[in-house]
Amino acid sequence: MRAEAGPLADTDKQLEDILKHLEESERGGRALEMAPTDRASVLEAVTHYASEFIAALPRRKAYEEAGYERSGADAGLDLHEGPADISEILAYIRERVDSTGLNPASGGHLGYIPGGGIPEAALGDYLAGVTNRYAGTFYASPGAVRMENAMVQWSGRLVGYGQGFGGNIASGGSMANLIAIATARSAKGIRGKDLERTVVYLSDQAHHSLGKGLRIAGLGECIVRKVAVDGHFRMDAAALKAQLEADASAGLRPFLLIANAGSTDVGAVDPLDALADLSAKHHLWLHVDAAYGGYFLLTGHGKRMMAGIQRADSVVMDPHKGLFLPYGTGIVLVKEVRHLLQAHSYEANYMQDAQEQTLEHSPAELSPELSKHFRGMRMWLPLKLHGIAPFRAALEEKLWLTRYFHLQVVRLGFETTPEPDLSVMAYRYVPASGDADAFNKAMAQAVQQDGRVFISTTQLNGQFWLRLAVLSFRTHRREVDILLEQLERYVQEHGRY
Ligand SMILES: *Cc1c(COP(=O)(O)O)cnc(C)c1O
Repeated sequence: MRAEAGPLADTDKQLEDILKHLEESERGGRALEMAPTDRASVLEAVTHYASEFIAALPRRKAYEEAGYERSGADAGLDLHEGPADISEILAYIRERVDSTGLNPASGGHLGYIPGGGIPEAALGDYLAGVTNRYAGTFYASPGAVRMENAMVQWSGRLVGYGQGFGGNIASGGSMANLIAIATARSAKGIRGKDLERTVVYLSDQAHHSLGKGLRIAGLGECIVRKVAVDGHFRMDAAALKAQLEADASAGLRPFLLIANAGSTDVGAVDPLDALADLSAKHHLWLHVDAAYGGYFLLTGHGKRMMAGIQRADSVVMDPHKGLFLPYGTGIVLVKEVRHLLQAHSYEANYMQDAQEQTLEHSPAELSPELSKHFRGMRMWLPLKLHGIAPFRAALEEKLWLTRYFHLQVVRLGFETTPEPDLSVMAYRYVPASGDADAFNKAMAQAVQQDGRVFISTTQLNGQFWLRLAVLSFRTHRREVDILLEQLERYVQEHGRY
C-alpha cells in the first residue's frame, strides 16, 4: 500500500478502493463465524463420533498394529482453499488417527503410565476454547487465573503444604520438572562457574525428563551422582548420606536431590522423610517427582507411602495421570512461591497494564509461558461435576488391582518386583530352559499382537521385565484378568520346555 499525500480527490479514490477490499475480504472471512444451525450440526457430528468412540472401547483393542505401514504421504491431510465436510473430516480421523497404535483411552492400556482421559475434561476444554479466556495474567482474566490457582492450591494442600506455596499448571510432568529445576537453580544461586563442583543426586529410577531438564536448564555440566537403590528400588538413604559426606569433604557443592514418589519403572516411592532430613542437613533443594504417584495422596495408602512429601522444596504431580485427565496437564508446586517468582517473573513495556495488580499471582510470572491454554478449566470442571469421591475410589481400585495382579502372577509362577508401593510393578517368567530374556520378550510381543490389553517392558538389573501399570479410570478387574489369562496360556504353551 502506498501512503502518498495528494489532492482530496485522490484520497476519495483511495477510500473507495479500501472500502471495496474491506467488503470483499469481510465476506470471505465471515465464513469463520458459522451460522448457529451449521455450528450445531458440526457439534452434533463431533459429539456423536465421541459417543460412539466411547461406547466401542470395551470391544476395541488397546493396541492396534495395523496401519503403521502406511507411508507419510497422506492426501487426506492436505489443506485446500475450500471447505470440507465434517463427516469427511471425522471419517479421516476414525480411519487414520483413532485406529492405529496405542489407544490410551482404553481400559486395556496397562503400559507406560496410563490415565484414560475422562471425557468431561474435554467439555472444560471446549468451554475454554469457545470463551478463550486469557489465563496467562490475572489482569486479563481474574476468574480464569483464580480457577487455575485454586487447582494449584488444592493440589498443594494434598501434598501438605502450608502457607506461602505456589505453583503452575504446565502441559505435563516434563515441563513441570523443568520449571522445578530452573527454580532450584535460581534459588540456590548456581552460577556458570560453579557448575563443575555442583552436585545433583538421583537414582537410576529417576524419569529421563529430569536429565533432560537439567541439560535444558544449563546444568548439564554438573556432577550427577546415581545413588544406589534398595531391593524395593527406593533410594538408599544410607548410601546417599555417605555420598553427601564424601562430596562435602571433597569441597564439592551438593545442590539438588531428586526423589521419586512413584517411579515410572516400578512405582517405587523413596523414603521421603529420611531424604528430607539429609536435604536439610546439607542445604539441598529437595525435588520430589510425583508426576505419576502424586494424586494417590487422595488415598490413605498413598498418604502413608509418601509421608514426608510436604518437606520437599518442590513437587511435580500430573493430573493427566493420577486424575485421569487427557494429556496436557502437569502441575509443579514450590513450597515457597517467591522462588518460583524469582526464577520466572518478567518485565516488558507492553505488559505494564498487567503488572498493576497484585491480588493473585499470574501463571505468566510463574512459568515460561505467556499466552497459554486455559488448563484450569479442564481440571476443575470434572472434579466439580463428579466430586472428589469417585476419583479417590478409582485410585483405591488401582491399588487393589495391582495387589490382585501381584498375588495372581506369583501364583502362576512368575518372578516379581516386591509388593508394589503404588500401582506399577514388574514381573517375568523364568522358563524351565532357554534364555529368560528372549522368552519374556516373545511373551510381551504375543500380548501386544493380541492387542486386547497393552503392556510395556523395561530393563531391571540388566534383565528384561514386563511391566504392569494400572492407572486408567477405565481399567477394572476384567482387563487385569484378560492379561492374567494370556500370561497363563503363554506359559502353558511355551514355558515348560
Ligand atoms: C510421566 C512421568 C514424567 C513425565 O511426565 P509427562 O507428563 O509425560 O511429561 C516424569 N516423571 C515421572 C515419574 C513420570 O511418571
